[in-house]
Amino acid sequence: MFAKSIRWRLQLWVAFLLACVLSGFGVAVYQLQRVHQLNQVDEELGRRAAALSSALRGESSPRPFERGPRGPPLEPGPGGPGRDNGLFPPPPDRPEPRPPDEGGNRPFGPRERRLSPEATRMFDAAGTNNFYLAVWSYDGTLLKCSTNTPANLPCPERIATDTRLHARTRANDREAFHFTEMGDCVLAGCSLTAYANAMRRFTGLLLAVGGVVLALGLGGGWWLTGRAIRPIAQISAAASRISAGNLSERINVAEADNELGHLAAVLNSTFARLEAAFAQQRQFTADASHELRTPLAVIISEAQTALARERKAAEYRETVEGCLSTAQQMRRLVESLLELARLDAGQEAMKPERFDLSRLARQCVDLVRPLADRRSVKFDLDLPPVECLGDAERIGQVITNLLTNAVEFNRPEGEIRVLVDAEQSSALLQVADTGEGIPAEDVPHIFERFYRVDKARSSHRGGTGLGLAICKAIVDAHGGSIEVSSQPGAGSTFTVRLPLP
Ligand code: ADP
Repeated sequence: MFAKSIRWRLQLWVAFLLACVLSGFGVAVYQLQRVHQLNQVDEELGRRAAALSSALRGESSPRPFERGPRGPPLEPGPGGPGRDNGLFPPPPDRPEPRPPDEGGNRPFGPRERRLSPEATRMFDAAGTNNFYLAVWSYDGTLLKCSTNTPANLPCPERIATDTRLHARTRANDREAFHFTEMGDCVLAGCSLTAYANAMRRFTGLLLAVGGVVLALGLGGGWWLTGRAIRPIAQISAAASRISAGNLSERINVAEADNELGHLAAVLNSTFARLEAAFAQQRQFTADASHELRTPLAVIISEAQTALARERKAAEYRETVEGCLSTAQQMRRLVESLLELARLDAGQEAMKPERFDLSRLARQCVDLVRPLADRRSVKFDLDLPPVECLGDAERIGQVITNLLTNAVEFNRPEGEIRVLVDAEQSSALLQVADTGEGIPAEDVPHIFERFYRVDKARSSHRGGTGLGLAICKAIVDAHGGSIEVSSQPGAGSTFTVRLPLP
């Protein structure tokens, strides 16, 4: 479950990054602190070794060891001879130390060596304050050591002509030593227990701070990812409610002004389109039932009236003729519904072929001409040859429908102008009449199913309100477009655009 959850994956990644950064930072800080602490110990030891050296020489104030450029920190290493830490190079004006075994002024032997009273006082255990001191003569004989000096303290290995301060770590002790010009070895040391305790306390502090930062980072990360993915939960909850039937439900996008907010907005518009499609479907079913119920009611009522009493043959004939006409109207309606259903389902396969749109338009005009003649409507044709790609039979159905409407909604002795033209990327067909026109508020709905501007009049002439809807479905199936512009009282112009071959 954890591996699949986005929140947990993000949380694990944040935890991993934080752990890496914090441990890297902690190790660096720990090392710096360790070096700093050890340097402090070394400096204190160096000061004491210098004081002891000066006291041995009988000087009143200690000669400090001069510091050279800072090198790497002294490493507490295993016991044994100290290593040159490079921190205290010999002063340039200091005379070269004289090797003890060379001729001339030989250094004092163990028995000859005498410590000044000041130097002797420095070995008083009470005054050493946890530090211990030791002095060896040039031949390695321990001359003097403080009372707290560890037993069997080994004399550092002699480094010829080197009077610089060295440091070494033995077990839990840190020692600084140097060889005097006379060849004696002076050593100051101390236990590293206090240093180790300080480092332990510092480690504890680092761990505590690291733990707090880790907890804050993880808590903040958990809260942020929670906030970031909350819209996902909202989206899935809204989607569940919508799939349960509440199509008017929408996702609240106000809180998510990010990628998920955009996703929610896209889903909302999809839900809105779905809702509109479902509403249209419901309306269509209701309209279709209503349209079928009316002629059925007419047939039933006519039949009941005829059967109510004995009638003459002519009356029966009239009733049957009325029923027949109503049934034919029903058949037209059912056929139109079936055709629309097939077009919607994509079952009405279009047979694309090249055809001359002008020739087809002329054939359709010839088909409608008898109807136009009855109403004394004239045709004005502008039909240059234009090649077009599509199902000629279906396109002919569209043109005939538009021409029939142009005749029926025209004024008597009106005119119909039919124009075919080739545009840049499409073939154009226009049917313009001089009829009553369509009110502006009806224009956007004119291609909707069962939409009729004047329902009573349209029904009276046998219109179903499906003709333009079928035209639009056919043109859409060809990848074309159909639109209308109308001026009430002056006429309407229907424009169809179809793909060129
Ligand atoms: P009908 O079967 O009612 O003609 P249509 O879908 O063909 O159905 O037309 C829908 C409605 O559009 C018509 O009832 C009519 O009100 C309006 N209409 C269609 N063509 C024209 C036109 N050329 N002039 C004015 N109104 C029109």
